[in-house]
Amino acid sequence: MDVSALSIKDIQLGLQQKKFSDVELVKGYLDRIRKYDKDIQSFITLCEETALEKAGEVDRRIANGEELGFMAGVPVALKDNMCTNGIKTTCASKMLSDFVPPYDAGIVEKLRQGDAVILGKLNMDEFAMGSSNENSAFFKTKNPWDLERVPGGSSGGSAAAASAGFAPITYGSDTGGSIRMPASFCGLVGVKPTYGTVSRYGLIAFGSSLDQIGTFGRRTEDAAYALEAIQGFDPKDSTSLQKGYATDYATSMKSGIKGLKIGIPREFFQEGLHPEVKDSVLKAVSLLERQGALVEEFSLPITDSGLSAYYIISSAEASSNLGRYDGVRYGYRTTEFSSYEELVIKSRTEGFGDEVKRRIMLGTYVLSSGYYEAYYKKAMLFRQKVKKLYQSAFEKYDTVISPTVPVLPFKLGEKTADPLAMYLADTYTVNVNIAGIPAISVPSGFSQTGLPIGIQLMGNYRSEETLFKFAYSLEQELALDLVPKIGEVK
Ligand code: GLN
Repeated sequence: MDVSALSIKDIQLGLQQKKFSDVELVKGYLDRIRKYDKDIQSFITLCEETALEKAGEVDRRIANGEELGFMAGVPVALKDNMCTNGIKTTCASKMLSDFVPPYDAGIVEKLRQGDAVILGKLNMDEFAMGSSNENSAFFKTKNPWDLERVPGGSSGGSAAAASAGFAPITYGSDTGGSIRMPASFCGLVGVKPTYGTVSRYGLIAFGSSLDQIGTFGRRTEDAAYALEAIQGFDPKDSTSLQKGYATDYATSMKSGIKGLKIGIPREFFQEGLHPEVKDSVLKAVSLLERQGALVEEFSLPITDSGLSAYYIISSAEASSNLGRYDGVRYGYRTTEFSSYEELVIKSRTEGFGDEVKRRIMLGTYVLSSGYYEAYYKKAMLFRQKVKKLYQSAFEKYDTVISPTVPVLPFKLGEKTADPLAMYLADTYTVNVNIAGIPAISVPSGFSQTGLPIGIQLMGNYRSEETLFKFAYSLEQELALDLVPKIGEVK
């Protein structure tokens, strides 16, 4: 069965009308993964047996007329930093390469209760640190649109898998852009919700005040439905939001954007922005204007300092969060040592990759008593400023639009030697996490060489519904073909 372009709605209707069984459907996805994932390399763990078992259960329950959950029979795949009871969860690190969690993350619990079918766990940059997926300790995932290029990061496996049609939707996490950036590079809708919308319980922590789980899909409707399935209060996450969750995004997104206001921040369109990205984004904005939105340029001076503040705050939090991996309490343990100190040092040196070590050192440095005031405290003050600037922007605008990434998807190896060049790819995404607001990356078109480009729609706290309206309107207007021809491209 050809599953390459199915939406969630197609799946729900197909199961309801008995056009196919869930076992047939899941077999279709597994066949596709077996055929193409040799080249793309998005899965770290494939759960063939348990996925087919679950599909069989869904079929039996449908046949018995039993009531099923919100995600009944829908195949999903998850970034490998979300704990799955009984399924290996590695964070793409040698440190956790054989870790099998004894519990489910909050979202996994919700997905299981919703009767989703978990296909497996997806590759990522180690501990979610990176923008290309090249920091995985295991292998490098490729971009389905061009196998010589990166899918973006850190949720590169989640993006590549959704784009390649290995699952109708996938889940990732976003600390500074890790959903939006790979969504843009792979031609997908990528949703980073308001901080606190999705439980972080069981999400392996990177920067706890920034981390948020979100969704990937080829269509706004799929990505929004996938969010609806996992959002909501979780008493096990103290930063989880208690109430005010919108539902039925699929209906509200279709009400149009007439009269809604768009702000274009001048500073997000300056030096360093690839001309083809700029043109594509501005063209998308003019299409939204044609549908009745009002567009205005304004100043939001946060791009340069935002990047510095992000790398200070996220590394500081990472240095603390990753302190637990010492070969004693958690994680990989070295084999030869003669003292406790040597055990810890060797386990950490051998277990972590270069980028993770770089962040731990940077974080430890900015938190040290001599430099705390100069770096960490300054970054925290800047954080307040970013929040205020966004607040005043959202008094005037329903969404603020920018490119998602300043560059086109780059080649494997192109930026690995220069971490700073890699960090620049996050220029437009990091401030969203610093403020805790929601943002969506939506495909806006392709470069002349056929590489996907995305625009970023930012919104006020809890304004996901409005952002989906803009995303859906643009998608309808552009009607892009977002199914890559895997196997036929170079
Ligand atoms: N690329 C950014 C980083 O390396 C963002 C990562 C993320 O959002 N997880 O930190």
